[in-house]
Amino acid sequence: MRLKDKTCVITGGASGIGRESSLLFAKEGGRVLVADRNIEGAESVVSEIRDAGGTAHAFAVDVTRANEVSAMMEAAEKELGPVRVVFNNAGIFPLDDGTPEDTSEETWDLVMQINLKGVFLGCKYGVPALRRAGGGSIINTASFVAVMGAAAAQVAYTASKGGVLAMTREISAIYARENIRANALCPGPVQTPLLAELIADPAARARRLVHVPYGRFAEAKEIAQAALFLASDESSYINGTSFLVDGGISATYITPE
Ligand code: NAD
Repeated sequence: MRLKDKTCVITGGASGIGRESSLLFAKEGGRVLVADRNIEGAESVVSEIRDAGGTAHAFAVDVTRANEVSAMMEAAEKELGPVRVVFNNAGIFPLDDGTPEDTSEETWDLVMQINLKGVFLGCKYGVPALRRAGGGSIINTASFVAVMGAAAAQVAYTASKGGVLAMTREISAIYARENIRANALCPGPVQTPLLAELIADPAARARRLVHVPYGRFAEAKEIAQAALFLASDESSYINGTSFLVDGGISATYITPE
């Protein structure tokens, strides 16, 4: 078991990448705090984990609220034991995010609050918890758009993920000597509810798939496997990386036929 008895906090654990990671981490022996603003969804993931013989606890959190994020770390320690993994994964991708001209300030602020400040707060309160445990691994979900521009405009989302990447690099340097490492997970497009509405339109789907060497989107399980590696001791000397799990998108220049 790759995470035996390690307490893991996973935000956005009710859906998509967070859900698959919660299930996988628990299967590998992790004690998982499934945290989400969708508490029913988090509880359903916890039930699934318990039915399979794993250990998990659901927690309602809005990652933009400092008091709730702080309480989330305390709940993880109280219910499950010293925290060894913090996976700051919750994020949004609003459909009205576009070019700088057509993106509203409200959309910009909302995306920054959840995608960037949410990760900041997860680190702000996650680091002391990891320190109390004697060290551990922080995984912050960025995106492949943190390292290259999106072909279809989504300026607030892209900027928020660039912020996550830069912040994670800095955190990796600050705490390395305390045995706390931090990596940014950068998925390519993944078949999850976050993307579902966008790619429901065949033209929008094709517009994005043309850039993917595999010709398909990732499954959430494939991203969870990468997160598992970053959470486990197998990645003990991996720190400060932009861990790309993008099917080769960022390595390729594709000319449509
Ligand atoms: P998803 O929509 O399936 O799941 C996101 C979860 O986050 C949901 O359960 C939602 O309730 C929760 N959440 C949203 N705002 C929250 C808040 N303020 N507080 C607490 N929980 C909140 O999405 P996903 O595709 O699994 O995305 C997970 C992460 O991966 C996000 O950070 C996303 O930006 C990133 N990502 C996704 C893709 C993709 O194509 N799906 C690609 C690259 C990066």
